[in-house]
Amino acid sequence: MLRRMNAKQLQALCDDWKERMPPAEREEWLGARLAKQVNYAYRHAPAVKRIFDAAGVSPRQIRSIRDLESLPVTTKDDLVKLQHAEPPFGGFLAVPLNSLSRIYVSPGPIYDAWGEERIRAAVRGFVRMGLPKPGDVVMVSTAYHMVPAGLFMTDALDVLGCTVVPAGIGQTELQVKLLHDLRATAICSFPSFTMSILKKAEEMGYNVRRDFNLKYTTGGGERHIQVLRKIFEEQYGLVVADGYATADVGSVAWDCGLGLGYHYDDAECVIEIVDPQTGRQVKPGEVGEIVVTLFSKVYPLVRFGTGDLATYTNETCPCGRTAPRIPKIIGMIGEHIRVKGMFVHMKELDDAFAKLPEVLKYQLVLKLEGHKDQITLNVETESDVDRKALAQRINQRTQEVFKLRMDAIEFLPKGQLPQDYKKVVDTRWA
Ligand SMILES: [Zn+2]
Repeated sequence: MLRRMNAKQLQALCDDWKERMPPAEREEWLGARLAKQVNYAYRHAPAVKRIFDAAGVSPRQIRSIRDLESLPVTTKDDLVKLQHAEPPFGGFLAVPLNSLSRIYVSPGPIYDAWGEERIRAAVRGFVRMGLPKPGDVVMVSTAYHMVPAGLFMTDALDVLGCTVVPAGIGQTELQVKLLHDLRATAICSFPSFTMSILKKAEEMGYNVRRDFNLKYTTGGGERHIQVLRKIFEEQYGLVVADGYATADVGSVAWDCGLGLGYHYDDAECVIEIVDPQTGRQVKPGEVGEIVVTLFSKVYPLVRFGTGDLATYTNETCPCGRTAPRIPKIIGMIGEHIRVKGMFVHMKELDDAFAKLPEVLKYQLVLKLEGHKDQITLNVETESDVDRKALAQRINQRTQEVFKLRMDAIEFLPKGQLPQDYKKVVDTRWA
């Protein structure tokens, strides 16, 4: 595990000069590192070798970001299949399994290999923001179970020298008490849950600015940060750190604090925005999938398709950094959705309802209400079904399979959903 770092070591994590390199120099620098990385990945990760060989590409041919176009994108769904065929890591692990510091399990299920480099990336994010600082008391209010969320944040805060309160999710009233009694300076959580804690505090008679010592919160993982950022900043006086991370690749892009998008983290990876149909890199402003090639000695994914859709800009940020930025995430492709901070694979939806024969057809409708995701389930059933009992069993089943309850269940008569209906209707991105 990474040890606590002193101020000098922390400062050495970010290279201010490199982050402000002229774009042409940056390209060249990244190209040289990429060439070394794919060569390493080819020699140490059998799955990467298979991908290159099948495409008839030699690692020597990859010398620039543009050259990556000659390789196929490995999608999240491909990764599920590859890992299933060759557990646990599908041939992508480049080190002995027991040298990993953490193995997480994301819905799919997907095994996530985490080495120290992932933690270093998260620490680097904190250092760039300047918050939290060593000596801060930080409440980590996110899941600690299987998925990276809570524990990886804790690992990074340990390195930084913070005092961590591993609060997890739920028990909002108790979270308010901890925040108050422990004089916590930061909450690391999903923005919708941070908002729930702050609202609960007000309900309990607290004035957040006056009664708490809170200065900082995080925004990762949810669309809501685009709505909530202003409220956190203006109403509560908080500094918001936002980043783009996934369980598969860790933290790979970050907001410098100006709220102008996620800067590609050149220290960690090469990011391409790619047309999902052709695998070609799109132009600035065009929509494509976020595809990541990690500079990792542990889990060297090459051209991994995250399933998230975004645009990018090449304009230098007013902060002076020259890496491209993703102004915002605008949706998802593929066979999975992210809702209430959870990643749900379409297969899991089918699995959940396959054991409920009374459900003839189902449709999930995702909405944004205020700061929260709302899930409405439309269910086609026969007319004589006991709706109350079925609703209960549906919620039991969805909680078992993907840990979510439905906010509302609408029962529809048989034949109501059209022939070409979609199983998931996501209105949150509109
Ligand atoms: Zn910036």
